[in-house]
Amino acid sequence: MQVTSDMLTELIKASSDTIVEHDTEITELDKTLGDGDHVINIRRGLGFLVEQSEEISQMDWADAWKKMGMTCMSKIGGASGSLIGTFFVAMGKDAVGKTIDPVTFAESFNAAVEAMKARGKSDAGEKTMLDTLIPVANYFNENCGKLEYPALLAGLKEVAIKGMESTKEMHSVRGRSSFLGERSVGHIDAGARSSQLMICAIADAIEAKL
Ligand code: ADP
Ligand code: MG
Repeated sequence: MQVTSDMLTELIKASSDTIVEHDTEITELDKTLGDGDHVINIRRGLGFLVEQSEEISQMDWADAWKKMGMTCMSKIGGASGSLIGTFFVAMGKDAVGKTIDPVTFAESFNAAVEAMKARGKSDAGEKTMLDTLIPVANYFNENCGKLEYPALLAGLKEVAIKGMESTKEMHSVRGRSSFLGERSVGHIDAGARSSQLMICAIADAIEAKL
């Protein structure tokens, strides 16, 4: 099986649905560590992506990711808007001229994580969405092109959940939650949870096609 960009309509919808479903929970997390607007920001971006999804799903991966990134950058507020926007623009740039298969997808995903790290001046262990995304990028590097889809997707979900959970015991040094210092310990980061939920929803949507 091949995951093609015409699946984007479905994958964006799956991401949007899971955020709506977990709205209260994620809002509580961002209220505890931040200002409580994370779901509003993400839903705003996803709303525009859902609207554009017919058009995006006609594009090749590189153009689709770039357009998604530009939309996130210009339409989502908060720290997450520019970070997620940067992520998808970088993913699109890396994908130019490539045929996207699991191996090239892993390359583009890693380029996107590196761009987000640079944009956020952040790295692993700082209690952000990167604590979900960095382990996932490493997992893709090690397993894309080796594992078949069912095993690859099952492992992906485990790694994303473990990464999200790891933020609970971290002491925040980035974003609004850093103002809480020590008091940030004991709570999961909202961005780590929202990115994990979207990754798992996308994995489930692909699994359902196998
Ligand atoms: P804001 O923090 O501006 O209110 P959001 O609430 O939408 O924006 O997003 C907050 C999330 O953004 C945090 O939970 C965290 O995961 C992520 N985040 C914040 N700052 C950074 C950073 N410098 N690098 C990576 N992720 C970050
Ligand atoms: Mg916030």
